[in-house]
Amino acid sequence: MIELRTPAQIEQMRPAGRFVADVLTRLASAAEVGVNLLELDRLAHDMIRERGAESCYIDYHPSFGASPFGHVLCTSVNDAVLHGLPHDYTLVDGDLLSLDFAASVDGWVSDSALSVVVGSPREEDLQLIETAQRALDAGIAAAVPGNRLGDISHAIGSVARAAGLGVNLQFGGHGVGRTMHGDPHVPNDGRPGRGFPLRPGLVIAIEPWFLHTTDEIVFDADGWTIRSADGSRGAHVEHTVAITADGPLVLTTRDEARVGR
Ligand code: MG
Repeated sequence: MIELRTPAQIEQMRPAGRFVADVLTRLASAAEVGVNLLELDRLAHDMIRERGAESCYIDYHPSFGASPFGHVLCTSVNDAVLHGLPHDYTLVDGDLLSLDFAASVDGWVSDSALSVVVGSPREEDLQLIETAQRALDAGIAAAVPGNRLGDISHAIGSVARAAGLGVNLQFGGHGVGRTMHGDPHVPNDGRPGRGFPLRPGLVIAIEPWFLHTTDEIVFDADGWTIRSADGSRGAHVEHTVAITADGPLVLTTRDEARVGR
């Protein structure tokens, strides 16, 4: 069921968005050569505790996970792109790291992701991240009353196709509210003018993710970490966006330019 929020409820969602943005800003700064993924998870956990927030991930146990997630952060490195389970891995120069974080503050959830290169970047990795960010911007720009859900999907997919990238439709964006995953599903490609009519009060996570040379994925044995089928690297960016009468309101905007838009 698709739920619409009142303007007052959208105001109540701002602190969660602010908090999720602050955590990702801090984590992106902390993600350096020599830092372990478990340290990043611990840092996020500390911030959740200090804020009195609740993790959306730690007890999350959908059908595809072998066990509850058990961490508060997704850390996907290089050929991993989604749902990366934090593990004992120390970042090395040139790693492409995607961080996905969702938390609940005052009973409302926000969900956001970014990708950064640790140390010296490869040009092709920077381009992949830039393409994902442009796709996110295009999706957000289409998130206006009068459009339909397919317009957001089409905007994202068009950026990918223009860059010569394939789009995987198994995982995409979703409704956000009291819980992390609600209706509607927001695919990263689709037909314009189709699907649910966008109305003020719809709050969704828009989350393009792309792989360099494939749109096929494989799962690790733990059921969580999702990798490219061909070993090529991936990038993932995400914002929680409220559709309002005045246009899209990005609830998870970060202040620091260095960690993306
Ligand atoms: Mg997310």
